Parts: sequence; structure tokens; C-alpha cells
Amino acid sequence: MKAIVLITKAEVQKFYKPVNPHTHKGLQGHAVIIAGSYGKIGAAVLASRSCIKSGCGLVTVFSPKCGYQILQISIPEVMVITDENVNFMTNIHLPFTPQAIGIGPGIGQELGTQKALFEFLRTNKAPLVIDADALNILAQNITWLELLPEQSILTPHPKELERLIGKWNNDSEKFQKTIAFSEKYNVIIVMKGAPTYIIDKKDIYENTTGNAALATAGSGDTLTGIITSFLAQGYEPIQSAQLGVFLHGLTADLAVPQTGYQSFIASDIIDYLGKAFLKL
Ligand code: AMP
Ligand code: MG
Repeated sequence: MKAIVLITKAEVQKFYKPVNPHTHKGLQGHAVIIAGSYGKIGAAVLASRSCIKSGCGLVTVFSPKCGYQILQISIPEVMVITDENVNFMTNIHLPFTPQAIGIGPGIGQELGTQKALFEFLRTNKAPLVIDADALNILAQNITWLELLPEQSILTPHPKELERLIGKWNNDSEKFQKTIAFSEKYNVIIVMKGAPTYIIDKKDIYENTTGNAALATAGSGDTLTGIITSFLAQGYEPIQSAQLGVFLHGLTADLAVPQTGYQSFIASDIIDYLGKAFLKL
């Protein structure tokens, strides 16, 4: 097996860029988060809020119509455009090409959404972070993976990973299958868990931050927003994934002495991002 590189503070500081005092929002990247469906607009709120809280200059959310007021009221800092359909997405059309797109949290797996994802992938040129139901749809339509831009970042939790690569008997087989998948489709895989590993063609990275408080609803949605933010800000895909998992885990490490494990929720990840950045 390839050597494992630990994702530590020293490792991410090799490429982390502090904010330039002369910057303006137009230089900090524009990200789009494609997320949400009826009853799961919270996923879009969490992903887009974590995206803007990770330094991205502009964030636009694309959601079904039912998300419009919820999103505008929950997060005044982000812009919202909606699908023509009310409860789930059927036509993912963006009037511009952003620097990065995060797609999947809470989108559901309606047939109309599956078709919309295919059409979107067929025409999309922007770098992608792919999560949740977008991964589940891809797992059912595996040839669509060939439509992804090179070095797209996939963020499966263990069940989503199993749907993509099939069952494994032991850890070694899990790694072998994930590495083969990443090579075949030229994608980066963030294997979420305790700990999280990142797999790309050349290397395996193991995250050193995070704890069991992260095992809570919406936790992964915030990771999608954070990684998409770094991709939009011009970090390389592998750097975006590393910095994203490191800071996401660090929020929980910093929060738990205050919140305890049980009372830590996904919104706390977003609230502690500032303290996590200050540690870099
Ligand atoms: P999701 O299942 O999509 O909500 O993602 C869960 C997130 O929380 C991933 O980033 C996991 O790595 C993280 N996570 C879940 N459980 C643990 C745990 N016991 N220790 C550390 N991180 C965890
Ligand atoms: Mg998830």
C-alpha cells in the first residue's frame, strides 16, 4: 500500500494562504451550492453557510422553489436562484460559471432530479465537490462518472462509499477498491469516518482532527460547503480536501470542551470555524 501522509497543522500550513489585506470579494471566489429539496432545505442552509464562513467571496445557492424564502431569511449573505420546480430539482441551470460547485446535500433521488443531474454533468465545466444524494444517484448510474471534471472531489460516508465501490471484507480491501476507483475515474475520494482518509492517484492522507461529536445530522453537509469554498478560492482540489477535513475536524476539537459531545450539532461546526481558522 502507498505511504500514508498525516494531515496535520504543519502539513496544511505548507499551502494555506492567509487573507491578503488588499483583497476584495471579487478575488475570493464565487461558489455555487446545489442542494435541498422539500423537508431538506436545512442541508442547503448548512452547506452554503459553511461555504461563506470559510472565506469564499460570493456564494449562490441553487435549490428548488420551496427553498427560496427559507434560504433568504436564514442566510442574508448568500444569493439564491431556484429551479422551476417546487419540491425538488428538475432543471439545474446556472446563468454563469462559478469557480467551484458543491452538489448533492439534501437533493433527494427523484427521477426528475436524476435526469437534471445527468444534464448538469453533461454541460458543466466548473470544478466539483460531489456529496450525499448526488453520490447515490451516480452509484446507480456509474457511467456518468466519466462526465466529471478531472480531480472532482467525492465525499462519501461509509454507506455511500459502499454504494460506489461495492462491499469490502476488510480495511485493506476497502483501500484497494477506493484507490482503484479514484484512478479509474480520476477523482479524489474523501472517505469520511473516524478518521477520515483522502485518496488520490498518488497518495493516501489521514486526517488528525475531529471526534465523535461530528457524528450528527448535517455534519457532512457543512464539510461539502467548506471544501467547495476552498476550491472556489483557488486552492488545488487535493489542498481543498485536506484543508477542509482538517478545519472541519478542528471545529469539533475546539468546541467539545464547551458544548460537550451530545449537544454539539452541525451549526456548531459553522460557529467554531472562526476559532479553527485562528489556529492556523
Ligand atoms: P455525514 O455522514 O455525511 O453527515 O458526514 C459525517 C461527518 O462527520 C464526516 O466528516 C465524518 O468524518 C465525521 N464523523 C462522523 N463520525 C465521526 C467520529 N466518530 N469521529 C470523527 N469524525 C466523525
Ligand atoms: Mg452526508
